[in-house]
Amino acid sequence: MDETLPSTDAEWRERLTPEQYRILREAGTERPHTGTYNDCKDPGTYRCAGCDSVLFSSEDKFDSGTGWPSFTAPAEPGSVDQRREGLILRRTEVLCATCGGHLGHVFGDGPRDRGGQRFCINSAALKLEPAAGEAND
Ligand code: FE
Repeated sequence: MDETLPSTDAEWRERLTPEQYRILREAGTERPHTGTYNDCKDPGTYRCAGCDSVLFSSEDKFDSGTGWPSFTAPAEPGSVDQRREGLILRRTEVLCATCGGHLGHVFGDGPRDRGGQRFCINSAALKLEPAAGEAND
């Protein structure tokens, strides 16, 4: 993980691509079925595109059919923060616990036999670190 996080907006803009910035720092949402990891089934660890923290594991990824990478749980309970949004939509935002970057939302319609949660995460907020020993050429 990076020992220093950007402290200014300009530093974040320098570190991130425009799309990563729009998602992570402006709480944007990528169009469904367009993200790098939507259909990805490669084993590995999903890290934060903003700060490299471990966020999700491929073992918890499932095909939700929504068009966004979907997970039943974060890598560790403390990997992400959850924040209730407005009173009308009543969505729960999911943020990186380390850098505060916006990742996506969590909903209660995940697989019942795996806890019932669906973490709906933007590909642009993630970086997949392939599992060790995977030939990736
Ligand atoms: Fe982060």
